[in-house]
Amino acid sequence: MAVTKASKVTPYGRFRFYDIDSLKYRGVDGLSIRTVRGTHSSYTHCDASGNFTSNDSFRYAFRYEIHFSRTDFVIRKNSTNDEIIIKYSGYTGPIYKDLNDAETSFYATVSRAAIVYYYGDNCGLRRPPMKSDKTARLAIQAQLTYNPDAYGYFSVNNRWIFSDRPVLNIYRDEPGTRRDNIDIYATTMHELSHASHWRNNKSRFNDTDNVVIESFARGVQWILTNNAYPGYSVPFYYRQSYSGVVQDLIDGYGTKHSKAYAIWVDGELVYHRSYKSYYDHVTGFTPTQIEEAVRKSKTWDEWLNNIINDYPSVASSTDITAAFSYWNSAN
Ligand SMILES: [Zn+2]
Repeated sequence: MAVTKASKVTPYGRFRFYDIDSLKYRGVDGLSIRTVRGTHSSYTHCDASGNFTSNDSFRYAFRYEIHFSRTDFVIRKNSTNDEIIIKYSGYTGPIYKDLNDAETSFYATVSRAAIVYYYGDNCGLRRPPMKSDKTARLAIQAQLTYNPDAYGYFSVNNRWIFSDRPVLNIYRDEPGTRRDNIDIYATTMHELSHASHWRNNKSRFNDTDNVVIESFARGVQWILTNNAYPGYSVPFYYRQSYSGVVQDLIDGYGTKHSKAYAIWVDGELVYHRSYKSYYDHVTGFTPTQIEEAVRKSKTWDEWLNNIINDYPSVASSTDITAAFSYWNSAN
């Protein structure tokens, strides 16, 4: 008796994640989906709505996998080396999942930010370390915990591998609660900007003053988080450390305020309440101009001079100097 073969099925579907800040489920544009049966597998990417279609087809049951990593970065759970992959087995047709658990929306937010910085519209900024570099692949440790010292940090681990491995740690929680997705997204952009600043620039980066590094990262955080969440404003700018100079070089004229200055003492950031304001007369610098100037600069004054000398037609040197002076002032 003839047995009718099952017909082949092309896997497709949609994965979405709850974004509490937008009060809706959203897709992750560029998220990797792997479809697997036995030793056969292939990858495809979701669109911005979360929809995907596999390039493959299967006659029998197969598995869907969400891979939050991409070629140039790996997202790992907590402090482990375990790449985060979510598997759905036994499918013979499409899959539709709206996810809102305590883990996956965090991974999706981190992945979404990294995909934009690496492959998407990042306003012309340089890309973070790539797999093709002579360093190990960038690792993002997605920490399902709270760190009292930082929402995230960038470091380079070269203890046991022959090449440096750039590592980001991103923390999901605050005491007693989870951080909003918008804040996790902003932190991921901030830390990726450090990795990008370091890339092909290691020894200079390592000699660069913290106020320069952190002010640049604050600016990138503001630029790229605004693209995803229009109207986003940076929660705080501190003079002499996490300053607002990048935003002031780009955005319009106006009175700018800050409540404090903060400086590093023995590696600890020490906060000093001290309200101050000034009128910002600078506008129109591009993220690329600011980035090229910062990569040549180890100190605040070098950054100022490179901005003035390399881009003389954007604003007057007096106004640029006023912005840099304000953001580097104490009382
Ligand atoms: Zn930073």
